[in-house]
Amino acid sequence: MLLTDAREAIVTTCQDLSRAGLVVGTAGNVSVREGDLVAVTPSGVRYAELTAELVGVHRLDGAAVEAPLAPTSELPLHLAIYTARLEVGAVVHTHSPAATALSALVDEVPAVHYYVAMFGGPVLVAPYATYGTDELARNAVQALRDRTACLMGNHGAVTVSHDLVTAHDKSVYLEWLCDVYLRASSAGVPRLLPPAEIAAVAAKLAGYGQRPPSA
Ligand SMILES: [Zn+2]
Repeated sequence: MLLTDAREAIVTTCQDLSRAGLVVGTAGNVSVREGDLVAVTPSGVRYAELTAELVGVHRLDGAAVEAPLAPTSELPLHLAIYTARLEVGAVVHTHSPAATALSALVDEVPAVHYYVAMFGGPVLVAPYATYGTDELARNAVQALRDRTACLMGNHGAVTVSHDLVTAHDKSVYLEWLCDVYLRASSAGVPRLLPPAEIAAVAAKLAGYGQRPPSA
């Protein structure tokens, strides 16, 4: 079986996302790129029933190499990201509730907490386009420029990284960040951190290998 480790890691990640409530039902999709191949979740399989064998392997042009089922309808999104961003090795897309709610309210995730600095710059909201379309993929690639996360308007969240563990962690942090903003803004008008402070934190995080500080 091709990309065995990647396919097994995708199953584990999907089940973690499901348990954590970051995806509901069969929503969301996860992929890993190794060389010219992409392992990606199939369409419409409940994560409790997902196995490594059911995770398909495709070429960067979308052609199936070892895929018993149809790929996620968002395959164009994953492939467009890998094509545009050679350093990206994993993509996680969720419909996590706070990120999805916020994607319908703002054009950029407000700087309510210094964790906004962990994604390489302000997290932008890509304009809405129908799911599974090349237009949505283009919009997301644009919003992801120089970043490791974006929201897709009225749809959900996308995080990317060199590896799947980090892309998954970023999806959890992004959801937490969006949730904090929604809670704060439902209780009042949140104070936001100035761009200079976010830039300073970003530089500090970069010094720590992009890991958030414990304090
Ligand atoms: Zn989606």
